[in-house]
Amino acid sequence: MSSQAQYQSPESAEPDMPAASKSAQDSRVTPMMAQYIEIKAANPDSLLFYRMGDFYELFFEDAEIASRSLGIVLTKRGKHQGQDIPMCGVPVDRADDYLQRLIGLGHRVAVCEQTEDPAEAKKRGAKSVVRRDVVRLVTPGTITEDRLLDPGRANFFLAIARRRVSDTEWCYGLAAVDISTGHFVLSETDGSGLAAEIARFEPREILVPDVIHDDSELSAFWRETKAAITPLSREGLDPASAERRLKDYFGVATLDAFGSFSRAEITAAGSALFYIEKTQIGSRPVLNPPSRENVGAALAIDAATRANLELTRTLSGERAGSLLATIDCTVTPGGARLLGERLAGPLTHPDMIRDRQDAVAALVENADLRERLRRILKRSPDLARALSRLGLGRGGPRDLACVRDGLFAARDLGLELAIAPNLPRELSDAAHRLQSLRTEIADKLAAALADELPLLKRDGGFVRASYDQNLDELRELQQDSRRFIAALQARYATETGCRTLRVKHNHMIGYFVEVPQNVGEDLLKEPWKETFVHRQTMAGAMRFSTVELGELESKIASASDRALRIELGLFEAMAQELVDLSAEIASAAEAIAVVDVTAALAELAVRLDWTRPLIDTSLAFRIKGGRHPVVEAALKREGEAFIANNSDLSGKDAGHILLITGPNMGGKSTYLRQNALIVVLAQMGSFVPAKEAHIGIVDRLFSRVGAADDLARGRSTFMVEMVETAAILNQATARSLVILDEIGRGTATFDGLSIAWAAIEHLHEANRCRALFATHFHELTALAERLPRIANATLKVTEWHGEVVFLHEVVPGAADRSYGLQVARLAGLPLAVVDRAKTILSELERSDRESPKRALVDDLPLFAVPVRAEPVAKAMPDLLRAALEAIDPDQMTPREALDALYRLKTHL
Ligand code: ATP
Repeated sequence: MSSQAQYQSPESAEPDMPAASKSAQDSRVTPMMAQYIEIKAANPDSLLFYRMGDFYELFFEDAEIASRSLGIVLTKRGKHQGQDIPMCGVPVDRADDYLQRLIGLGHRVAVCEQTEDPAEAKKRGAKSVVRRDVVRLVTPGTITEDRLLDPGRANFFLAIARRRVSDTEWCYGLAAVDISTGHFVLSETDGSGLAAEIARFEPREILVPDVIHDDSELSAFWRETKAAITPLSREGLDPASAERRLKDYFGVATLDAFGSFSRAEITAAGSALFYIEKTQIGSRPVLNPPSRENVGAALAIDAATRANLELTRTLSGERAGSLLATIDCTVTPGGARLLGERLAGPLTHPDMIRDRQDAVAALVENADLRERLRRILKRSPDLARALSRLGLGRGGPRDLACVRDGLFAARDLGLELAIAPNLPRELSDAAHRLQSLRTEIADKLAAALADELPLLKRDGGFVRASYDQNLDELRELQQDSRRFIAALQARYATETGCRTLRVKHNHMIGYFVEVPQNVGEDLLKEPWKETFVHRQTMAGAMRFSTVELGELESKIASASDRALRIELGLFEAMAQELVDLSAEIASAAEAIAVVDVTAALAELAVRLDWTRPLIDTSLAFRIKGGRHPVVEAALKREGEAFIANNSDLSGKDAGHILLITGPNMGGKSTYLRQNALIVVLAQMGSFVPAKEAHIGIVDRLFSRVGAADDLARGRSTFMVEMVETAAILNQATARSLVILDEIGRGTATFDGLSIAWAAIEHLHEANRCRALFATHFHELTALAERLPRIANATLKVTEWHGEVVFLHEVVPGAADRSYGLQVARLAGLPLAVVDRAKTILSELERSDRESPKRALVDDLPLFAVPVRAEPVAKAMPDLLRAALEAIDPDQMTPREALDALYRLKTHL
């Protein structure tokens, strides 16, 4: 789309003007282009959206990038240093769509607005340039527009600071800010937990100080993250100014009231505020005071485990198919975000978990109350985000309506909870917050806002009739003027005797009288020419203005101007009133989210028959009838049932290890993951997909599942596997839960077997954690005889008419084999290959039996077995049979039959 066909900027007719101070080559730079160049130079990292009339224009390289990224036509405008200036533009009223695409592609955009009326500029001289300034930097982590945001996901940007604690160690402070909701969280971690902590917030953008960015140990990490990386110079990082900035922002003399923060946290928080100032330029988002997450309060889940378990996103990055999508029964955007946060950061304090469980249990038991609450919640819009837009001066009439509806929902929820008996703490806290909310402003908004609301306040018409007397009068005047125009048209028509005479309006000449050409010719003469002043001649029609129409026009224009000014004044007053109440409203929004998440988890538990897990500080891990929620949901859609399984890893001083062997496709990975997911669900305060569950708090969850190359980082499949395994063996404590799926598969058989063997011994002796270990190395099952806390389990399988049937049932014991060949056949491997593999397998098994030592010494020669003539020939009859069966002699010519015979002979 080209903007140029539709747009004529007030400055587009500006002639080139030589600037005395410029070089001869620059002499063709217009004042407007000089202004552009200056503003762009101050914002070199962003695409500059330069406001001209109803468009944002981009020039030079920005125009080329935007035109490529957005698929809009690249045009040119004038010359710079002898070269054409590339240009493209986007209409202001559709800018959000284009911004969304540019931000999605990783760009940053500086929005440059006209900061004065063009008429003012004209007063300084006909050739003066309208003043412009960048009013906002749009970056992935600082967006607030509804259309740019995912309603169910927090939009955090993360600021990081670090402090040295010893010669070799650093401590990192993190500040996570979501300016679209006002959420502001601080936390601290050591270097080993940094990746996990960042992954927990799933930030859209990370501000990384240059020193941290350039740290060679972390550089791969920055390259790898999906978040946009914004380098931060020293400027934003001085601890003393960070503290000052925090105090100023929240208007407090000391930060003690908010909690006690470490220096690294305060520095990170200060950098976050510095970045807000830098991007929001003069607008102050409404932020909640920073809250601190206690170290160890959240179950530590490293980035690889989080990704492997597909907690909030699948491995391919989609929300659909993740655990979050499967369990999300929330009905408000704030609830969906809170559910995501709880899932990303399960708790480790049994009391806090029990508080959440009590609340869920109360709503499981009281179906009536749950239903009534959910009915109210369904009409509760995104209060937090609307409030944030209003606070930033970016809100519209619909944001006011959103807050109005949110406040009404909050009031109704408060009333509903007030009559519910014996509410557990989580719900009574929420009820208290909702009940103490002052909602008079909502009544005022209801009285003030019209039923149909425009998107933009500048369009007017959003204040209800009879709300403001002055506004009513002006609107009446506008109405009257319209009636007056109709009357004038009728009078002119009668007087001129022209029944087709019309009074019309356009932006160029305002109100005018239009008549057919022949009548127009008469109006140019006496007696009409005194009344009708000729303006335009069209094909077959002529246009005239009159004094009466001119007067009417200015009356209408000034009435609508004044009306809009009144509406805007009312808007600002109401928005300000809401911003003044923002702490209360934000707290109510949080309470709504808590009620929503609690009711949603209760709904989920009832719908899917989940149970409340017993949580304590023991090292228990006993699940009866556990299920994998995502696989179960997928099977259900196919009309198939999920087979529930038990697990027990409980120990007194140390955890037990379950070693699982079994057929391919038997369900080993599913079983492993379901146990990890049950822990995550239990510790986030949810009920779990099991008949019974007893879990002693897990401090860290580790998983090493599947195999993936990380070629971008120069790591092979096996290297990735070993790096992840190393992290687990170095960090798991007796409180941790480890799931390891097929380690050692990416290398030579005996290398892999030895690594797996040693890793299990280490888990048992050194880490002493609860662990599930799935493997195809059947040799490992011997470990159960030597090590006291290891048990073997296998997945049951049976054969029926030569076909393998998976029962997906976990039973004690070891598998006799992997049924790999049967699965390969099911997968459609050519029969000849499967048959050949069978022959090789039996050969390998025989040589292993005859000379078990040889196997250990030689590294199982899977691909080194000499290809002997006999087995190949054995495979041939099948091929011949297949070829023969494909022949239909009745359909062949003698020549084709001869050819076929030759082909068959070549198979021998
Ligand atoms: P491999 O060793 O080949 O990696 P696996 O033993 O890890 O296989 P899974 O990937 O866990 O097997 O499961 C294979 C399929 O079996 C799953 O996609 C699922 O459809 C089904 N399945 C697994 N567990 C169960 C279960 N408990 N009940 C019903 N179906 C199941």
